[in-house]
Amino acid sequence: MIIKIDGKECTCEKGEYLLTVARRNDIWIPTLCQHDSQEDGIGACRLCIVEVTERGRKSVVVSCVYPVNSEIEVETNSERIRRERGMILALLASRAPESPVISQMSRFYGAPSTDRFVKVDGEKCVMCGLCAKACSSLSVGAISTVNRGITKKISTPYGDPSSVCIGCGACAKVCPTDAIELIEDDQTRTIWGKTFPLIRCTRCGAVIGTREQIEEAARRSGEEPDYLCDTCRKERMARVMADTFGFDV
Ligand code: SF4
Repeated sequence: MIIKIDGKECTCEKGEYLLTVARRNDIWIPTLCQHDSQEDGIGACRLCIVEVTERGRKSVVVSCVYPVNSEIEVETNSERIRRERGMILALLASRAPESPVISQMSRFYGAPSTDRFVKVDGEKCVMCGLCAKACSSLSVGAISTVNRGITKKISTPYGDPSSVCIGCGACAKVCPTDAIELIEDDQTRTIWGKTFPLIRCTRCGAVIGTREQIEEAARRSGEEPDYLCDTCRKERMARVMADTFGFDV
């Protein structure tokens, strides 16, 4: 099937999400809650809205969760889209007034003043839920959404250091607004109020993660914990192959 995005003809499969098609064709649409580690979009931030024309009728859709089912025409940056994106950013900026990335985007899209909205002071989180999704996809589930309305937030149970968190930092890595504090020095990593000693590669000494993280990876693979970094593990594998098949490494 062929659709047109900003005048460019793009080939796609029926049912493919519009944002995926745009990205594959190097057409940029802003997003916060889309992350490569997640297969599907979650439509939480709504910044990826675009204008779709189907059989002469125009509508605004959220591209990361909009499956393409007919030969549509798409505008990613029309005047209406820029205006509505600006309004979405004003709402996000009142939810997360301390987020530099949202302030920057708000300026870029000329977002209106946030004066009339209730601000969540000191907040950087836009409640997209990517962090909790990342943690659940590891089958850990240490964090989730708690409370309602203006006090809604992502937290460990009762805000206490979590007994199940493995300190992997996946939640902080996927957060689009740097709202999750991860503090790391030579020896330790602290996240969600819990401090983990860092383990080093037994061969080269590079930091490879927390003990809990390594043990969890071993449990999932059904093998003994491996205390080598990726590079040293690859070198070990190459040596085993060389010994087995008799070639030089
Ligand atoms: S650091 Fe803890 S809360 Fe964050 S993804 Fe890893 S296990 Fe989950």
